[in-house]
Amino acid sequence: MVLRIVVGLLLTVVALAVAGRRMWWLKRLAFSGQPAPERVAAVREHPGRDVETQATEVIGQRKLLRWSVPGAAHAATFWGFIVLVLTIIEAYGDLFSRTFAIPGIGHWAFIGFIEDLFAVGVLAGIATFTVIRLRNNPHREGRRSRFFGSHTRAAWLVLGMIFLVIATLLLYRGAQINTGVFPYAHGAFASEIVGHWLAPLGYGVNSVLEVVFLLAQIGVIMVFAVIVVYSKHLHIAMAPLNVLFSRRPNALGPLEPMRSNGKVLDFEEADPEVDVFGLGKIEDFTWKGLLDMATCTECGRCQSQCPAWATGKPLSPKQVILDLRDHAFAKAPYLLAGSDEERESLPAAVRAEAERPLVGSREENGVIDPDVLWSCTNCGACVQECPVDIEHIDHIDGMRRHQVLIESAFPVEAAGMLRNLENKGDPWGLGQARRADWITELDFEVPVVDAAIPADIEYLFWVGCAGALEDRARKTTKAIATLLHTAGVKFAVLGPAETCTGDPARRIGNEFVFSTLAQQNIETFNEAGVRKVVASCPHCFNTISREYPQLGGNYEVIHHTQLLAELVAAGRLTPVNAVDEKLTYHDPCFLGRHNRVFTPPRQILEAVPGVQATEMHRCKERGFCCGAGGARMWMEERIGKRINTERIDEALTLDPDTITTSCPYCLVMLGDAVAAKKASGDARDALEVVDVAQLLARSIDASETSQGGQLSQDERSY
Ligand code: SF4
Ligand code: SF4
Repeated sequence: MVLRIVVGLLLTVVALAVAGRRMWWLKRLAFSGQPAPERVAAVREHPGRDVETQATEVIGQRKLLRWSVPGAAHAATFWGFIVLVLTIIEAYGDLFSRTFAIPGIGHWAFIGFIEDLFAVGVLAGIATFTVIRLRNNPHREGRRSRFFGSHTRAAWLVLGMIFLVIATLLLYRGAQINTGVFPYAHGAFASEIVGHWLAPLGYGVNSVLEVVFLLAQIGVIMVFAVIVVYSKHLHIAMAPLNVLFSRRPNALGPLEPMRSNGKVLDFEEADPEVDVFGLGKIEDFTWKGLLDMATCTECGRCQSQCPAWATGKPLSPKQVILDLRDHAFAKAPYLLAGSDEERESLPAAVRAEAERPLVGSREENGVIDPDVLWSCTNCGACVQECPVDIEHIDHIDGMRRHQVLIESAFPVEAAGMLRNLENKGDPWGLGQARRADWITELDFEVPVVDAAIPADIEYLFWVGCAGALEDRARKTTKAIATLLHTAGVKFAVLGPAETCTGDPARRIGNEFVFSTLAQQNIETFNEAGVRKVVASCPHCFNTISREYPQLGGNYEVIHHTQLLAELVAAGRLTPVNAVDEKLTYHDPCFLGRHNRVFTPPRQILEAVPGVQATEMHRCKERGFCCGAGGARMWMEERIGKRINTERIDEALTLDPDTITTSCPYCLVMLGDAVAAKKASGDARDALEVVDVAQLLARSIDASETSQGGQLSQDERSY
């Protein structure tokens, strides 16, 4: 008895000391990052919400269960380990007393049954993981495997350890049954089966096996605990914390303002010697950023959904996080050193790691390659999929901010866009004077606000740069204006007083230009007394509704598909004439995934008679980007397949007459890809890309012009 106590406790003390030392080191590393007081404040302000988040995301495994088979396997393993805490208590109790039973539970057979049920569940879970890993073998599948780039050996080791935890558990319980000290008379069905196998060995052998497997159980659990804190399975400890301190409701939608030393950066007072401008080195990340890195499970869900990765570009959101993590860990001794002398005395490899540029080419020994950094479309698929709430876009755009503001290093072709935004207020440099030209093509008046917005005007129609200046998007603008006019909605536009929201500047990393443009617009809004805004561009919609509040601009903002769907539902717009077309709808990332507007565009399409709508395989939350977000619209796409072509290839599998969307960027990108397909003979000449507003307007337009026949394609102004 004494020997088993000594061995059991010795194993425990040594393992906990090793694991504890590692956790202390990780804590020190995390807190070497920038402060993030807003994350702590958010938790303090909304404790109830965080209990709910932990209950759904961590305990309920909500995000994991979206992937049905691996999600169920993970849930079975996770829940199994929670229940099996009881068996660990029993094992330690057994060290001291062979007849130990948990106080309060005693010999209740139901608990024995539940423990065995979950033990078998864990076995089923790891069997499923084994099959998944064999089928997604990155050595065979290459980039198509979501495990490509993950540490697969560590994953196999952990699967083996989990198997050993369950195997030693059932063996020790089986032996206990045969020696008559098992706490549960019946119900523990799996242990009883194992006991049945061991019974022929007799009482004496089972007494020895009981001790051997008990110590083996404790030893395996302790070795597992050490492996966990030294491997990707660190997420077992970190995920609840990471979820707790993540952005709410998630890290989609707005970008966070630039912060330095925990405070929002004021450009007028900022000092480049003291302040942090974006993420220029690993210690510029906040502790939450470093926690993200330590939490990554290497599951590859983000990678599997990334449009850049899917089209052969070097960007994998998983690899970004892993490269940052590897760098942070390798540089850690340097970051944690207490003095310059200590830093000087570090091994050469650590000092070399400390010298690596965070963003740099292979020749420069950079941690993140510029081609990786600039491939991101900010589509949000990675953030959406990540089961542990890692905030990839914040990190990518944080690094972009440093590259643009401090290094002036960004794709050269985007320089013109930034210059145009600063000088002309739109990315193409066409100038504000032309922003109201589209109005002259309508046969009704659209009020242009020149001072205070008139009291009878309900909405400010925010047209956006593309909507005002790009030929294809202008058709959408005219369609929306016509529909609002038909429905009797009182609206006005800013015309020449409108300037870019600043979204492309913010997404490329130029926070300075963004805040200048945003403040200018907020001033215009406030002077005009704007309260309600309808925006046709999802990027403008996202920026005005969710980023302008960061600068004090608070408005009620609605996307045109939301307003039009409401007008249709209210009977103020009645599509009566059939549009007999097969079509499919492309979800714009900044409307769908970032802002969860999935239903209104579909409601509009459903209301148009004759329309036969079919969903693409990648739709709604799993929609596939058009390639324009993250300011990619103004960068060349030189590597891999074009993202818009990939999307159109998917759409063409449905052989549609029309591809619909609800974003001017998507309209342009998909339109370009369709034009290329037509030129190569891979798409029908009649195939169109239109906004749902255009489709709705045609249906209503047709009813109004039914006396004189329908308008031909060429006669339509939208
Ligand atoms: S935001 Fe989109 S493009 Fe960027 S890394 Fe994530 S999935 Fe890839
Ligand atoms: S970042 Fe998230 S989704 Fe991507 S591999 Fe890590 S845990 Fe999985």
